[in-house]
Amino acid sequence: MFEGLIKWARVKSPWLLHFNTGSCNGCDIEIIAALTPRYDLERFGAVLKGSPRHADVLLTTGPITRQAAPRLKRIYEQMPEPKFVVSIGSGCGIDGGAFRNCYNVLDGVDKVIPVDMYIPGCPPKPAAIIDGVAKLLAKLKGS
Ligand code: SF4
Repeated sequence: MFEGLIKWARVKSPWLLHFNTGSCNGCDIEIIAALTPRYDLERFGAVLKGSPRHADVLLTTGPITRQAAPRLKRIYEQMPEPKFVVSIGSGCGIDGGAFRNCYNVLDGVDKVIPVDMYIPGCPPKPAAIIDGVAKLLAKLKGS
């Protein structure tokens, strides 16, 4: 019963952490737009937090650079279980996308940490980001 209560609270109020792993900032701006009253991602109870220790869902943007990889891993390890990762942006988070084959870019965020969901688009529109988060919450509800 207590487990059910925790799950209900998590689905009703997911706390988000945003980390730019090497993005051109296009995806970051769209995340901010999704959180504004116009698109109102907060209607799902989602709140952007500043500490990994308080976050349920990690939003990554951009390709993963060699410089960002150890920091991303450390942030992921600091998040409490259960934790979820959403990679935002076409290609970049999957295999480097537009930055693929750059000397400092690795082949995808999942080479460093497990990814639960990818949201495509370059950059994805706020509506696509909201759709992705809503699908992740539906997945959590059914898990
Ligand atoms: S998906 Fe597009 S907008 Fe997002 S980080 Fe990559 S290049 Fe930039």
